[in-house]
Amino acid sequence: METDARLLEAVAAREGDLVALTQALIRIPTLNPPGRNYREICELLAGRLEGKGFTVELVRAHGAPADSDRYPRWNLVARRTGGRPGDCVHFNSHHDVVETGHGWTVDPFGGELRDGRVYGRGACDMKGGLAASVIAAEAFLDTHPDFAGAIEISATADEESGGYGGVAYLAERGWFDPARVQHVIIPEPLNKDRICLGHRGVWWAEIETHGRIAHGSMPFLGDCAVRHMGAVLAEMEDTLFPLLATKRTAMPVVPEGARQSTLNINAIHGGEREQEADYTGLPAPCVPDRCRITIDRRYLIEEDPAEVKAEVTALMERVRARRPGFSYEIRELFEVQPTMTDRDAPVVTTVAAAIERVLARQADYVVSPGTYDQKHIDRIGRLKNCIAYGPGILDLAHQPDEWVGVQDMVDSAKVMALTLAELLAPVQGRS
Ligand SMILES: [Zn+2]
Repeated sequence: METDARLLEAVAAREGDLVALTQALIRIPTLNPPGRNYREICELLAGRLEGKGFTVELVRAHGAPADSDRYPRWNLVARRTGGRPGDCVHFNSHHDVVETGHGWTVDPFGGELRDGRVYGRGACDMKGGLAASVIAAEAFLDTHPDFAGAIEISATADEESGGYGGVAYLAERGWFDPARVQHVIIPEPLNKDRICLGHRGVWWAEIETHGRIAHGSMPFLGDCAVRHMGAVLAEMEDTLFPLLATKRTAMPVVPEGARQSTLNINAIHGGEREQEADYTGLPAPCVPDRCRITIDRRYLIEEDPAEVKAEVTALMERVRARRPGFSYEIRELFEVQPTMTDRDAPVVTTVAAAIERVLARQADYVVSPGTYDQKHIDRIGRLKNCIAYGPGILDLAHQPDEWVGVQDMVDSAKVMALTLAELLAPVQGRS
């Protein structure tokens, strides 16, 4: 108990350092795409962690999607080993951020501190969480010089674009092998009192309807691919969306609206290509011979992925049966299976106990509507003992004026530090 109290004090004493580190990370604009300044952010962390006795490796994902000499996909993995054998606890954060977009009232890369919040692109998603894990590890090391096992901290590339130049690349090369890492915490902004066990599945596909080009003044001489797509969309409204609404899940997905199967149409395009904004001419009259949509189907742990795809094919076949000349193609783009860690997994029970200790309330268990890097740790790394836990409000991610609360960062750093103490320096009789 007494060492726990000292540990919590050590985290609290680092509040200024935690804010400064978060600001320093925000001030390196690691925009993805295209993947800027990845080397710079890895070097900032490498210098700091080497100073704390970590062995640091910078790993470039050579040959990964979007890796180039202009925009190399750099990752950092830092490891500090204790004096005795034991488990390895790994904190994984992505260091990339999405574009700023419009509507900011502060400098998106200024890291401004105001009224207990740090503002900037990536503040909550997820540089605040990354900083909290660094502070937690440093406070733990100062108060527990004699510990078992190892602590790892990674900062990885490209989570926002699928993680192939980041966690997937590392997992394929054994960095998340259960023989070397036993517990993984991903400090994504799920709120300081919630443990995220996993995510729904994803299937992206492109559907194309075919027609025949002709002069727009004589559409009867052609065959309009956009009208064919209209029939597909009408069939979705009539049958598919109502069906998906009936598919509910036992996964504790938040927000509540995502506790079912969903489908979004991410894009639609038919006919003549859109012209540049500075084009001053008129469009040409043609019957569109191609129309394409991109569908984004999110599915549940209770669903069979083959069935998810078969539903769409069956829908297309129903349209074909009643429309003369109807033909189509489905191209699969991307797929991730759902994942959910057991509630009695060691990392889950340990973090839950730490949340109760720090916040004096029970942890909530949630599942994310969208995927994050846990998919690679589970599917490629074969490591099941993995959760997302970190400060910040998920709804603020990717929005203008993104921020993370200082108190939330301090509290979640305390939870992370207690988790390290419990897993790497257990004390008999710790409550
Ligand atoms: Zn994120």
